[in-house]
Amino acid sequence: ERAEYAKLTDLPATTKDGVKFNLFLNAGLSFDLDHLDATGAEGVGLFRTEFQFMSSQTVPTLDEQAAFYEDAMRRAGTKPMVFRTLDLGGDKVAPFMGGDREENPALGWRALRLALDRPYFFRRQLRALIRASKSNPLRLMFPMVCSVEEFVQARELVDAEIAWAKKFNRETPSQLRVGAMVETPSFAFSIEALKGKVDFLSVGTNDLMQFFFAADRENKLVSERYDLLSPPALRLMKSIVDSANRAEIPISICGEAAGRPVEALALACLGYRRLSMQGARIGPMKRLLRGMDFAKVSQKVNLLIDSGSVDLRKELLKIIQQSDI
Ligand code: PEP
Ligand code: MG
Repeated sequence: ERAEYAKLTDLPATTKDGVKFNLFLNAGLSFDLDHLDATGAEGVGLFRTEFQFMSSQTVPTLDEQAAFYEDAMRRAGTKPMVFRTLDLGGDKVAPFMGGDREENPALGWRALRLALDRPYFFRRQLRALIRASKSNPLRLMFPMVCSVEEFVQARELVDAEIAWAKKFNRETPSQLRVGAMVETPSFAFSIEALKGKVDFLSVGTNDLMQFFFAADRENKLVSERYDLLSPPALRLMKSIVDSANRAEIPISICGEAAGRPVEALALACLGYRRLSMQGARIGPMKRLLRGMDFAKVSQKVNLLIDSGSVDLRKELLKIIQQSDI
């Protein structure tokens, strides 16, 4: 099968009836990027920058961060790459994070909240990313945004860093794109107000489902009771893609669901066209999409979703098994 996926590497993820999808890689280690070309991904949809911090006993210095990003950019070559700024806290703990244990770390002082409250720390990462990008394009994305104001505030810090680089005659990116993850319900209902402010969005279904169902993603006793294919979750996912389309904001999905064929198919039928996933998932997903008469499948799946009364997972699985792959 591997050899078969390899044949698809340079082929687009376009369905039989010509609907174009874009598949991207999720990465976090430089090692992941060595397989970028082999996976057949168009680029990196999510680079989790916290991995460098989680494997370090002390906070990485500006030079260490810049060297790490530069190496990552070199490995990605000319393919586009989205760097997610630090997403520490909750399930992502770094050895140097002391301080008081929080009662509810997933709901606590984490990710972008931490960045906005410690702008010096955040700006060091932004400076490292800008330095590493030299005069190439740079794509940044913020995690765990809860409101338009938080996004705007974070973007202002990016602008401040660009201004700093210019003032000191440093190179600045030839093109800057600043995006946000949609992984909190409050932000999912803020999308139309982001028009003209955000360059792109990416749905982090892992966290979004955790917060939507109030179910700890790390606790299997509760996390597995809740399903992205349930009517309320699908309604949320549909509302997100529709709002993004209305606001003309490009949107992708980078949560694990994007790489799971059954969920990904449902999401595709809701209107998502850009999916970012682990490397090993890309070949199979491309094969599935390329074998599909999408208009027909989508119509059928949307009827099933609207009826709300069937075992959607079973029906989707049947469609996948029957498709021409
Ligand atoms: C997500 O929450 O879906 C996501 C992609 O980010 P992470 O899994 O790193 O929290
Ligand atoms: Mg997340």
